[in-house]
Amino acid sequence: CGIVGYVGPQPALEVVVDGLARLEYRGYDSAGVAVLGDGALSTEKRAGKLANLRKALEENPVTGEGAGIGHTRWATHGAPNDVNAHPHVDNGNRVAIVHNGIIENFAALRQELEEEGCKFLSDTDTEVASHLLSVELGRRGDGDLAGAMRDVCKRLEGAFTLVAVSTDDPDLVVAARRNSPLVVGRGQGENFLASDVAAFIAHTRDAIELGQDQVVELRADSVVVTDYDGTPVEVNEYHVDWDA
Ligand code: GLU
Repeated sequence: CGIVGYVGPQPALEVVVDGLARLEYRGYDSAGVAVLGDGALSTEKRAGKLANLRKALEENPVTGEGAGIGHTRWATHGAPNDVNAHPHVDNGNRVAIVHNGIIENFAALRQELEEEGCKFLSDTDTEVASHLLSVELGRRGDGDLAGAMRDVCKRLEGAFTLVAVSTDDPDLVVAARRNSPLVVGRGQGENFLASDVAAFIAHTRDAIELGQDQVVELRADSVVVTDYDGTPVEVNEYHVDWDA
């Protein structure tokens, strides 16, 4: 339902949870975050209101100087419980992914991945994307999360905004979209992304609307947008001058 990503000098966890709070008006049944730090990925997620996630984070603090992503879920596949909440990680805890929309061909992909030895933890359509990304990163061997995301997206059918982070590159957020919204917020030495500008307009009003079938690589000081073949595309930059 709602998606937030951040990379920059501020503590990612705070920026991301604050962004999720600004998307609460859209309605959701669970919420979660993943942040990178010290070569490790920390994830926390809870069914119910953001207050439940905040409480879990108080009891079990998540730390990290790297990038962060967050999600509020409106369940389509799998009950609204803690396990099905996003982010979803691969078996090696190398990548974390959040997703808005529906991956229509998830059942066939899940069967293929299970045959290859992947252990699924949730009942979501989303989880196939975390395993596919991890398998693709392993196959490539170059740690190129954006390249892996492009190849994964070519295999997915349906509607999705996908946002991923990986321990291979703790200061990078990669996102992709098809039939589901995604907006980048450009800051000074920091960058944001979200399903809705409301998540980041407290920080910046300089935005880029991602086009259909595009992938964005977000770092603190750069935003690179390509199509699914890796060809750079012209971006549509605009200034948000209304109050979200
Ligand atoms: N289809 C995914 C799920 O049920 C994502 C739902 C959403 O857009 O929040 O987990």
